[in-house]
Amino acid sequence: MFQGIRGKIIYNYLFLILISMLVVGVSLIWMLQNYLLDNLDQNMTNQGRLIADVVSEEVSLGNYDKVQEKVIQLASDLNLRITIVLKDGRVIGDSESDPDSMENHKNRIEISQALQKQVGIDKRMSSTTEIDTMYVAVPIINQGEVLGAARIGLPLQEINRTFLKVRGFMFIGILIATLIAILISLKLAKGFTEPIASISRGARKIAAGDLTTRVYSGLRDEIGELGLAINDMTKTLQQHIEEISQEKSRLENILATIASGVIMLDKFGFIRVVNPAAEEMFGINALIAEGKQNVEVIRNFGLNQEIENCILQEKFIEYEFTLYFPEERVLQCYLAPFYRDKKIAGITIVFHDITKIRKVEQMRADFVANASHELRTPLTVIKGYSETLLHGALDDREHAEKFITIIDHEADRLQRLVEELLNLSHLESRRQDPLEESADLLAIIPNVGEELKPRLLDKAIFLDLDLPKGLPHVNANPDRFKQILVNLLDNAIKYSPQGSRVQVTIQEEEKTVKILVKDTGMGIPAKDLPRIFERFYRVDKARSRQMGGFGLGLSIVKHMVENMGGTIGVESEENKGSTFWFTLLKKHN
Ligand code: ADP
Repeated sequence: MFQGIRGKIIYNYLFLILISMLVVGVSLIWMLQNYLLDNLDQNMTNQGRLIADVVSEEVSLGNYDKVQEKVIQLASDLNLRITIVLKDGRVIGDSESDPDSMENHKNRIEISQALQKQVGIDKRMSSTTEIDTMYVAVPIINQGEVLGAARIGLPLQEINRTFLKVRGFMFIGILIATLIAILISLKLAKGFTEPIASISRGARKIAAGDLTTRVYSGLRDEIGELGLAINDMTKTLQQHIEEISQEKSRLENILATIASGVIMLDKFGFIRVVNPAAEEMFGINALIAEGKQNVEVIRNFGLNQEIENCILQEKFIEYEFTLYFPEERVLQCYLAPFYRDKKIAGITIVFHDITKIRKVEQMRADFVANASHELRTPLTVIKGYSETLLHGALDDREHAEKFITIIDHEADRLQRLVEELLNLSHLESRRQDPLEESADLLAIIPNVGEELKPRLLDKAIFLDLDLPKGLPHVNANPDRFKQILVNLLDNAIKYSPQGSRVQVTIQEEEKTVKILVKDTGMGIPAKDLPRIFERFYRVDKARSRQMGGFGLGLSIVKHMVENMGGTIGVESEENKGSTFWFTLLKKHN
């Protein structure tokens, strides 16, 4: 019926109460019975003595009839059975029966004791009344001589009835006391268990995740202490969880925003975390990838092997590889194991996209190689001819003049190259603010045309300037703009046939002005188009060099346009012609 602590308290109480009531009850009854019996013995002895006194004279005188009379009288007064027995055992008086008809009582235990001047007591069934009786006999003494014995008998039934009554009262008393004790124990148990039940309800709520719950802690005892301890624990737990979740969201934010890719795997190679940068690098979806084996997701044999090495050897690994899907990228990655309880729990891989760095490095290396090559060619020529001159050709005037002309030509070429390189490095190192500059294209373009007239005439090329009226100024340095246009027109003339036509068109757009230089020359093959603005890039090296070019012109032009906030591009078809265009920002005000 009652379970848990409450049940235990109640049942233990009940057990204790019942045991103590039983012990108390039994010993009380036992004591009471003894007390009553002692009292009865004493009373009966006193009454016996009284009767012995009353009849002693008549007995000594031999007035037995008188004795019988007195016996009947006394018995009805005292509500007892009285028997008077002579020394020889003859019954001379009895309140229940005719003394003459009664047998000799000398051998009755109580009588024989009384005849020996003692108080005789016995309990047995009376042969006269046939009832269980308690007998008390006292001697009848006259002048120091024992004349007989006076005996009183009390039916045991009566005594037992009294005892039964006493036991009944005791039982009811004990029952009432037990009931009261049970009620008190119930109340006490409730008092003990209610706070515990309330604490356990609270604890269950906390366990379910509601950390704002506080349990009952009002008592100033161990239970109250328990409540306080649980509340303190919950508070600390709440603080820790808040700290952890803040830390977690901070980490998630970092992971979500860093440009480096991050992939975390457990020690079995199952992917646990993929950040957005890694998703993009590998063309995967974190939701799909997480929970899968690395080999299912990362399609790179080398990287998968390094993952295995990192997990098995528990060592930091740096690895660089090229990924071809979804985009060609050079990735540098760092694989590092992480531990839990001093045992490897997994590894973290951080990826850096170093495609651009590698490209720049490659470009620098190419640039140095190209520049050296371009410098070496004229130098070799100069060195060759000057040595020939020194070894005697100086005296051969005709050849000497020719050789010196070549040396001069190559020195010019060298000078131009150095100037162009300086120009390029200057453009790369310093970015001008185009907003501070202003150029009037309509004034500059015709001037450029004039300057190029000798070259145009040389190839009989017609320069068509298609200039709109009222063009706004642009954000550009006029000298730079001139240089750009000269470069583009120079190329157009250079790569166009005799007698062809070169056209300069201007288109006004919303925020920009677009300048187009169109020729009908040899054009550029499609495969070369994406690289045409690279330094030293030439479609036909031999031919370009023959024409005096280094392949630096377009890259200088590109730098200049971009420095002024514009863009540059080209459309070209082989043997049909090319259109180089660039934009410049319109000047506002
Ligand atoms: P270069 O000094 O060799 O002309 P550029 O940088 O000016 O160097 O040009 C790079 C290359 O682009 C040239 O070598 C040439 O092959 C090609 N090119 C440039 N402009 C034209 C054009 N208008 N038509 C055809 N090819 C051109």
